[in-house]
Amino acid sequence: MALLEVENLSVNYGAIQAVRNLTLSVQEGEIVTLIGANGAGKTTTLRAVSRMVRPREGRILFAGRDITRATPDEVVRLGIAQSPEGRQVLARQSVQDNLELGAYTRRDAVEVRADMARMYERFPRLGERRNQLAGTLSGGEQQMLAIARALMSRPRLLLLDEPSLGLAPIIVREIFDIIGELNRSGTTILLVEQNARLAMQRSDRTYVLEAGQLTLEGDSARLVNDERVLHAYLGG
Ligand code: ATP
Repeated sequence: MALLEVENLSVNYGAIQAVRNLTLSVQEGEIVTLIGANGAGKTTTLRAVSRMVRPREGRILFAGRDITRATPDEVVRLGIAQSPEGRQVLARQSVQDNLELGAYTRRDAVEVRADMARMYERFPRLGERRNQLAGTLSGGEQQMLAIARALMSRPRLLLLDEPSLGLAPIIVREIFDIIGELNRSGTTILLVEQNARLAMQRSDRTYVLEAGQLTLEGDSARLVNDERVLHAYLGG
């Protein structure tokens, strides 16, 4: 059984068909990449899984459980967390407050404290800046905060929307190294990325979306050399 199964998903915004009849799955332990041009429906797919948008048709199963009509809170409690496009940290709150926000569904205050200490070990720059306002952090630090905030709910599945957006190449590598470490320590990851080559190099499988529809899927190592992917997404 896959950890996440999306079956025949369609999402509309008014007359716009953002996602059409999309079927994909993520196995426990995988990193799966979703690539596609601007407006292809990648963010909408993640937002359907985290239940921030309502599917028009289709089903979403998490660990075998139908979450198609779950609330966003329920989905977080079940083990799905999203790091949104553009990070969306609370700029006028401290690093610490942002992390606490990520744990809002939890009632185990002592364990939350312990997890926060672990985040500061894993992300030392956040530790050094724990009392600083999030808006004063660099772009890379804000991205780390967005990821750390998502991890505070102890997700089994982490949804990452454009983690490398707007970051310098050296920081992008750092973010991808962190993604790899998280995955090796047991977190399953569904990743949306503009940086298609790097995302494919660092993931197990890739799905390609065009105008809301799935056009290609397969092992990342194979697709990264596929003519169609090279031409459309890798500047080949
Ligand atoms: P990007 O890389 O630009 O974020 P994307 O692949 O993530 O692109 P989506 O953001 O999912 O694509 O958008 C899919 C389609 O839905 C686009 O045509 C977009 O304009 C439209 N869309 C997205 N969000 C909304 C919204 N809140 N209201 C209306 N239309 C929307």
